[in-house]
Amino acid sequence: MKVIHLSVECFPIAKVGGLADVVGALPKYQRKLGIDASVVMPYYNRPFVTENALLNIYEGSFSQGDEILAYTVWKEQYDTLGFPVYLIYIEGKLDRPEVYCYPDEAEQWIAFQHAFLDWIVNTDNKPDLINCHDHHVGLVPFLIKYAYSFQSLAGIKTVFTVHNGQYQGWLSWDKAHLLPSFDGYHGGLLDWDGVINPMATALKCCDRYTTVSEGYLEELFVEANGLQDLFKHERAKAIGIVNGIDVEFWDPAIDQLLPLNYTSTTVKKGKEQNKKIFCEKVGLPFDIPLLSYIGRFAFEKGADLLPELIREMYSLNENKIAIFILGSGDDIIQGEIANIIQLYPNQVSVFFGYNESLAHEVYAASDMLIMPSRVEPCGLNQLYALQYGTIPIVRNIGGLKDTVIDIDHDNGYGFVFEELDIKNISLTINRAISVFNIPKSLESIRGKAMKLDFSWDKSAKKYVALYNQLLK
Ligand code: ADP
Repeated sequence: MKVIHLSVECFPIAKVGGLADVVGALPKYQRKLGIDASVVMPYYNRPFVTENALLNIYEGSFSQGDEILAYTVWKEQYDTLGFPVYLIYIEGKLDRPEVYCYPDEAEQWIAFQHAFLDWIVNTDNKPDLINCHDHHVGLVPFLIKYAYSFQSLAGIKTVFTVHNGQYQGWLSWDKAHLLPSFDGYHGGLLDWDGVINPMATALKCCDRYTTVSEGYLEELFVEANGLQDLFKHERAKAIGIVNGIDVEFWDPAIDQLLPLNYTSTTVKKGKEQNKKIFCEKVGLPFDIPLLSYIGRFAFEKGADLLPELIREMYSLNENKIAIFILGSGDDIIQGEIANIIQLYPNQVSVFFGYNESLAHEVYAASDMLIMPSRVEPCGLNQLYALQYGTIPIVRNIGGLKDTVIDIDHDNGYGFVFEELDIKNISLTINRAISVFNIPKSLESIRGKAMKLDFSWDKSAKKYVALYNQLLK
């Protein structure tokens, strides 16, 4: 079975968040199951394209509005990621250093999808199934059915994976002329609330849709940034499959980014030493529990709550906890975090920006990881934390609900709170600190956490079962 994962992110080529981690791992685990899985993504002007040998495998062109766009499909020659990767290059559109936030995003992603389909329609080696990831490639299930040039592809099955239902790729109808010409009778499939909505289009036109956890799927039926009724209407096509982790990159026993490797049997010493080195590096005290936050500074992640939470923690808990924050995003949130750390320079430290290798060190060094999310489709941070013996303190929502069990329940290994209320969150953190101060409890909870299996092996099988169902 030949499957193409179509995405605008893929670790380590271009990563902004969890989408990249999934697309950079899932095909590898599917290949272990005998699936011919590969990734097609935009070409980015990033180190990967200069550090690896690329083969020019196809050149073509198409018109987009008034422009004729020439494109090249490059294949990374040696499958260094464990699966074939194809990069689509278009000068001025798909040759940029960053993934998002360009003013012509609509033109960029339409061009990517158009070039992809133009290539596929002209190649003999067609996929049996295309797994489209998020709204950037949400028009593909529509275009293979109703765009005149691509109707020969209509037999290819499509799965649409929703990594984040908040972002839908809205574009106004006056951009419709940029799309490959399509049968106008079906144009309504592009529309939601008077604009072209690629996520809605994908939900309507795909053969199946998946969400990155079961808990998130249930939540999307209730609130999906305006698409809840559509998610519900299409629910017969839906399945929630929780993300896994790529244990080739995320395993403290072999992680080359850590000062010291450790396993579940050496976790006490291993974490102690990683913490010592890390705390010296970032100027934090080493002999009190270390709580960290890693993530985008976005409202959905609850990052705006961090300053108030820090204030509350130190009003109750002077000197009993150290806090480290690694993140970037919203400038206002960033400014407020910068202000608050000036009040507690000996207890709170921060790195503003994206730093993959620092993230590994943080997971290993921290005692606890906080995730006060408003929306959390799956969440990978809590899975990495558990794998590194770091105890997650999370809100009971989305994928966090599916993957973290509070220690007050049988087999619990984390701390869970319901409401996003600062007092409530700080009480939960205090509950965690008291467990941490009892060495036997700490040892037991870490042991349980590190024995959990969130590797991709299980979830990759569920995707493959879904593909088999569609193709039988
Ligand atoms: P998102 O909604 O951002 O995709 P996920 O929890 O699914 O959230 O995935 C987040 C991924 O991004 C994890 O691999 C996490 O370690 C990583 N990450 C987030 N922010 C940073 C940062 N500032 N530096 C390094 N890694 C980060």
